[in-house]
Amino acid sequence: MLLSEKERERKEAILKVGSQVIGACREFLAGEGFVELLPVIVAPLTDPLRHHTDRAVIEAYGGRWHLTRSMIFHKQFAVSVCERIFSFSPNIRIEPPDWGETGRHLWEFVQLDLEVRDASREEVMDLGERLLVYVLERVKDSCSEELSFLERELGIPERPFPRITYTEARRSYGEDFEEALSREVEGPIWLIDFPIDVREFYDREDPERPGILLDMDLIYPEGYGEALSGGEREHLPERIRERIRVQGLDPEQYRGLLALAERGLPPSAGFGIGIERLVRYICGLEHVAEARLFPRVPGELSPI
Ligand code: AMP
Ligand code: MG
Repeated sequence: MLLSEKERERKEAILKVGSQVIGACREFLAGEGFVELLPVIVAPLTDPLRHHTDRAVIEAYGGRWHLTRSMIFHKQFAVSVCERIFSFSPNIRIEPPDWGETGRHLWEFVQLDLEVRDASREEVMDLGERLLVYVLERVKDSCSEELSFLERELGIPERPFPRITYTEARRSYGEDFEEALSREVEGPIWLIDFPIDVREFYDREDPERPGILLDMDLIYPEGYGEALSGGEREHLPERIRERIRVQGLDPEQYRGLLALAERGLPPSAGFGIGIERLVRYICGLEHVAEARLFPRVPGELSPI
């Protein structure tokens, strides 16, 4: 027997919830006029991230191709074609081996990555709240058996969700503010206004408050940590060039992005929400790996 009956039942319940989550996201976004794009798996450039080295690279046709860490730059281009886009985007991030123990990290995961042309941070925060509430209500309704099997009582949060700035959160909770905040709050909470040096160069600096970004994270309650990250984007070539310079990145690596920006990337805002983390939260799982049938856990090998 591959799995004991108890293990199989548990896995099946989780996978059914996951399937409903994906369906509910699609349904909600279709109703909001979004176009679904097929994901980008390899590209000459990908999200620089703040904590990563360039290891997931393949060579083909005389070029070097990154496995996607996020579709950020493709999203910025895509909204020049369709006003509202999303993709269930598989991401490869070779996280440090001990991150296998955080309960929150896989090295292959899927984010629902979406972007809206000419949108403000406020608009995508509103969209994010409505998306989450929609998905929770749908799953609570269609998967009541699975949730009771998993002994999960799921509350539906009230909107609007509360907010706290990065500075306030650090002052109140110290260095480990994200974890502490997530353990303390009753429902999801927005963490907003990150300082410019802690985030990637594509999050837009507030023109009225230099050094502060127009970005956000959503934090789940009950210690489940970060749900999503997003914000308004830098789209002007001179701004992108300056932000790349200050972060000490090689502008040559972002030549393709800068060329698109010179030709006119539209202003946009969006976010990416991790699907396995969402399923973990909904099902009340110990580890995000339980949300996948073939999990890729940092530091661990897999038979299949
Ligand atoms: P980021 O661009 O790093 O903020 O990633 C977007 C979202 O993807 C996060 O808010 C998480 O929900 C999810 N995510 C990021 N990294 C991982 C990971 N290593 N494992 C699982 N989910 C992740
Ligand atoms: Mg993030």
